[in-house]
Amino acid sequence: MAQKLILRICYLYPDLMDTYGDIGNIIALKKRCATRNIKVEIVNKSLNDKIEKDKFDLFFFGGGQDKIQILVGKDLQKKRENLINSIEKGAVLLSICGGYQLLQKYFRTVSGETIKGIGLFDAHTEGSDERMIQNLWIDLSKNIKDEIKEIYPTVDKKQLTTDLIGFENHSGKTYLGKNLKPLGTVIKGAGNNGEDKTEGIRYKNAFGCYLHGALLPKNPHFADYLIAKALERRYGQIKLEPLDDSIEWQAHKAAIKRT
Ligand code: GLN
Repeated sequence: MAQKLILRICYLYPDLMDTYGDIGNIIALKKRCATRNIKVEIVNKSLNDKIEKDKFDLFFFGGGQDKIQILVGKDLQKKRENLINSIEKGAVLLSICGGYQLLQKYFRTVSGETIKGIGLFDAHTEGSDERMIQNLWIDLSKNIKDEIKEIYPTVDKKQLTTDLIGFENHSGKTYLGKNLKPLGTVIKGAGNNGEDKTEGIRYKNAFGCYLHGALLPKNPHFADYLIAKALERRYGQIKLEPLDDSIEWQAHKAAIKRT
């Protein structure tokens, strides 16, 4: 009998960091795994909870307001070691907006407070007077496109969707360090800072972005990519058959049309 795959998800601060439907990402991951008969275990971790060493395959960290970020930022320092250790060992992480900012070196808010991040990402964010609020449409970086092709061996490479659509609302402007690649290039919207056309970041299998929305329900290729990467760590290379995502693609296209 084929081995039953298990995906162990850690949902970071769901009670404090969840804006614009970020929880939809968890629902999408759960649903896509259930359809494929992959068992999912989800553990919520909030203030004062400990992240166990090497326990999780996938972390999710949503967005939040500046004030909440001060509180969460302090607590995250206590989780730093085991979280970074998991990423170094290949665990997957998806972080959005406020969560993305707290994983960087620091976030200086528009009111002048500096929130220390955990430095997983070589990047920093500066609060600005400008609020970047709109749909955000990006073209994924080439290495990620290539990896998505690998997980869907039965799909015609030319048919694969390689963009992402989401919704951004942030005043922080993020600047990447020299050695890290963005998640993608902005087609429409502001992205990291509204200046250099980069959006998001990638370090190993950890991703940061400004794509709320929720992101994964209307970007099923990226959801599958994260699932495959997260399982690979323990089960070796994972190949997936695409699901019937006609409704998801309709949502994807409708959002782009409105962008
Ligand atoms: N407080 C941050 C900013 O405005 C993040 C906002 C969010 O997570 N939507 O830049």
